[in-house]
Amino acid sequence: MNVTELFASNVFNDEVMKNALPKEVYKSLRRTIDEGQPLDTSIAGAVANAMKDWAVSKGATHYTHWFQPLTNLTAEKHDSFIEPDGDRVIMRLTGKSLIVGEPDASSFPSGGSRATSAARGYTAWDPTSPAFVKEGTLYIPTIFVSYTGETLDKKAPLLKSMTALDLQAKRLLKLFGIEARKVSTTVGPEQEYFLIDEEVYEKRKDLVLTGRTLFGAPSTRGQELEDHYFGTLKSRISDYMRDLDATLWSYGIFAKTKHNEVAPAQHELAPVFTTTNVAVDANQLTMELMKKVARRHGLVCLLHEKPFEGINGSGKHNNWSLSTDSGLNLLDPGENPEENPRFMLILTCVIAAVDKYQGVLRACVASAGNDHRLGADEAPPAIISVYLGDQLGALVDSIVMGRQYVPKKAVPGSIGVPESPIFPIDTTDRNRTSPFAFTGNKFEFRMLGSQASVADPNIVLNTIVAQAFSEAVESLGGAKDFPKACKAYTEKLLKEHYRIIFNYNGYGPDWEPEAERRGLLNNKTTADAVPEFMKRESIELFVRQGVYTEKEVVARANIALENYTKAINIEAKTMAEMVRRDIWPAADKYAAALCSAIAAKRAVSEKIACVSDMVLAEKVSSLNDGLMEATEKLENDLKEMPSGELAASERMAHVIVPDMDAVRAIADELERLVSSAYWPYPTYTELLYSVK
Ligand code: ADP
Ligand code: MG
Repeated sequence: MNVTELFASNVFNDEVMKNALPKEVYKSLRRTIDEGQPLDTSIAGAVANAMKDWAVSKGATHYTHWFQPLTNLTAEKHDSFIEPDGDRVIMRLTGKSLIVGEPDASSFPSGGSRATSAARGYTAWDPTSPAFVKEGTLYIPTIFVSYTGETLDKKAPLLKSMTALDLQAKRLLKLFGIEARKVSTTVGPEQEYFLIDEEVYEKRKDLVLTGRTLFGAPSTRGQELEDHYFGTLKSRISDYMRDLDATLWSYGIFAKTKHNEVAPAQHELAPVFTTTNVAVDANQLTMELMKKVARRHGLVCLLHEKPFEGINGSGKHNNWSLSTDSGLNLLDPGENPEENPRFMLILTCVIAAVDKYQGVLRACVASAGNDHRLGADEAPPAIISVYLGDQLGALVDSIVMGRQYVPKKAVPGSIGVPESPIFPIDTTDRNRTSPFAFTGNKFEFRMLGSQASVADPNIVLNTIVAQAFSEAVESLGGAKDFPKACKAYTEKLLKEHYRIIFNYNGYGPDWEPEAERRGLLNNKTTADAVPEFMKRESIELFVRQGVYTEKEVVARANIALENYTKAINIEAKTMAEMVRRDIWPAADKYAAALCSAIAAKRAVSEKIACVSDMVLAEKVSSLNDGLMEATEKLENDLKEMPSGELAASERMAHVIVPDMDAVRAIADELERLVSSAYWPYPTYTELLYSVK
C-alpha cells in the first residue's frame, strides 16, 4: 500500500480544490476557510461544479448534506446528480444545492424548541470541513437549523464557540502585542473500543439492542494479569486495524497510534490532532467506519462506554489546545513558564473557567452509558479537577502561597543500559486519574464516553475559555502598567480557583471527601448532572458568547435528559424480556431436569441420597422465583413514569437503575449455577476470548 498516495484520496481537499477551481474562486473560498470571512455565494456554482466533476470521477452518483443532529450520530439523505436532458440525463450539482438543503426536520430531537407541525429544517454547507466521497456518494458537511433559525445540531454551536474563542483570544493576545489573524482550537481524540466475534455478538440480545451486556457473570479471567495492555495484536485484530487505518487514511483522517487497551478485547486508536471542527467530523466518521470495517472481518466493534461489567469501560480523551494561524501554541509553557506571563494568564484563565463552570463541563459528557464509568476505578471520578503536574503545580502553589519558586529543570536521564541513549526526562509524570490534565502543551479532558460526539465537550470548553478571556481583557484592557496588572490578575484568579487543582490520585478514597470540603460538585448520574446546564449562570454564559440562545440551552438539556431516560427504558425493557423469554425458562428447565434426575435415580434405588441435586434444584428454583419477583418490580416501576424530562430521568437514575441492578445480580448468580447446556446466552468468557 502506498500510503502517501492513498491518503485523502477520497477527499475534496485543498490540493484538489486548488487544481479544480478558477484562481479567484479558490482564493475567495480560502478566505472563508482560513479567516472565517462570510462565504461569497456567487462562487458556489463554480465550487459545486468542480466538486461534482471530481466526485463523479471517483465513481459518485449521489450527493448528500451530511449533518449531526442531536443524537450523537450523523444523518444523511442522498440525492442523485442526475437531471433530465431530453431522453438522457446529465450529472449536475448547482451552487444552491451545495449551499442549502431542506431535509424534513420533524423526526429529529429538538427538545421542545420546535413544534412537530413546524417540520422545516435547513442544512447549510460548512466549507471549513472538506467534502469527501464515500460508497458512491459525495458527502458535504453541513450545519442543521430550523425554519426559525434555532440550531438543531452540534456543528452550528461548535462553529459559533470556535468563533467566540477566536475573537476573545485575539483580544487577549493584543494585550501582549500579538496580532493574530486567527486563533483556533485543536483537538486529538483518543478513541477506545472493544472488538468481539460477530457470531457470538448476534446471540446476545442485550448487545444487539442496547450496545452493552445487561447480564453476565464475570469470566474467571478478567484483566488482573495486566497482560492485554499494549500486548501483541492477535492476527484478526491486526488485520482489522490495518484495514481500518487504510480506510481512514483514504478519507484524510490522521490515524496514528493503535494498541491493545487494559481490558481483554479492548483497543485504542488515536489520530494526529487537527482543527476542532475537522477533528469532530473525523471522529464521527471514524466511529462509523470502525463499525463497518469490523463487519468485513466477522467482528463487531462496540463503542458503548460499558459493554461489560467488572472490566474497564471505554472512554475518549479529548486533547485540546489553542494555536494561532502562525503556529504559536498558546498552551506551550516553554522552558521557563515562570517568566512567561502570557502563558501563565492563559493557563490561569483555563483553570478559572474549568472551576467556575465545572457543572456545565460535567453535564456535557453525561449519558446513560458514561454513568457506568465516571466514578468507577477506571475513569476519572465524576468530580471535575485540574491536574497540572509537578512543575506547573509547584509554580502555581508558589504563586498562591506567596512563596519563592524554585524551577525544576528537565534532567538528562539514563536508563542504566550503556547502549541506550541519553534522553531528557519530562518535567512532569503522567497522571491517568485526573479528569482534566495538563499534558505538556495541551489539556486532556478525559471524561468523555467512547460513543459521545466530541462536539459537546468542545462547545463547552471553547465557550467557557472565551468567557474567561473576555473577563481578563475587560479587567486588564485599560491597565496603565500592564505587566504588573497582568501579574496581579493572574495571582488573584489562581487564588480564587485554587480549589479545582488536584495533583494527586483521583481514584483514591480520600479525594471524594476532600472534594466535598473544597465545595466541588460531584454529580454522579446524568439526572443529577444535566440540570447544571440549565442554571442561570450557564444560560448567561452561552448567550453572552453567542453560542446558544436561552431556548437552545434548555432544549439541549432536555434532549440530554430525554436520551438518558430513553436509553434506560430500552435497557430495562430488554432486560425484562430476556428474563421472561430466556433466562427464567432456562433456569426453570434446569431445575426441572434436576428433579427428574432425582426421580430417575430414586426409581433405581430409594437409597440414593441425591443430596447435591436436591440442594442445587432448590437453590436454582428459589433464585428463579426471586428473579421473577425482581423483574415484576422493574416492570411495575417502569409503568409509573412521571411527566417532565427531569422527573423522569430522576426516576430512572434512582429507581429503575437500582431495580435493574437487582435483577442482574440474581440472574448472574443463576448463570454460575445453571448448566452451560441450558444457559441461553454466550458467557463473558466466550464474548471476550473468542477472537483468535
Ligand atoms: P497519551 O499520552 O494520552 O496516550 P499522546 O501524548 O500520545 O497521548 O497524545 C494523545 C493525543 O493528543 C493525540 O491524538 C495527539 O494528536 C494529541 N495532541 C498532541 N498535541 C496536541 C495539541 N496541541 N492539540 C490537540 N491535541 C494534541
Ligand atoms: Mg490520553
